[in-house]
Amino acid sequence: MSNYNWCHNPDCHKIETQSRVRGSGDNKVLRTVKIKQGRYNYSGTNAPNIWDYFCNQNCLFQFLQLNCVEIANTYSVKQPSETPIKVKKEKYESHRYEWNGEGGTRSVPYQATRTTIQRSE
Ligand SMILES: [Zn+2]
Repeated sequence: MSNYNWCHNPDCHKIETQSRVRGSGDNKVLRTVKIKQGRYNYSGTNAPNIWDYFCNQNCLFQFLQLNCVEIANTYSVKQPSETPIKVKKEKYESHRYEWNGEGGTRSVPYQATRTTIQRSE
């Protein structure tokens, strides 16, 4: 048995797409999109997914724009968080291509630097 949600963007039914048209004859309407829960549940975990509540990115961002202050106040961040890391720099041999003056390219080696962030657990 499948469960459904209606798209949570309060203006979903105002967006003009063929997929939202319902009704017949002169009694047609644009209707909020009906979403099948778990439609993108590729992992099979049944974990809650944002796309169970919004039909697409447009509706998600319209909702976020409409409610951004309320969301920010509900899940407020009063100070920054930090993740301890180590920054590792290492030199390695790389190459770039230059025009060889004859309509082709040649490989020119150079010493490059690779910077990687490592989590310190
Ligand atoms: Zn929608």
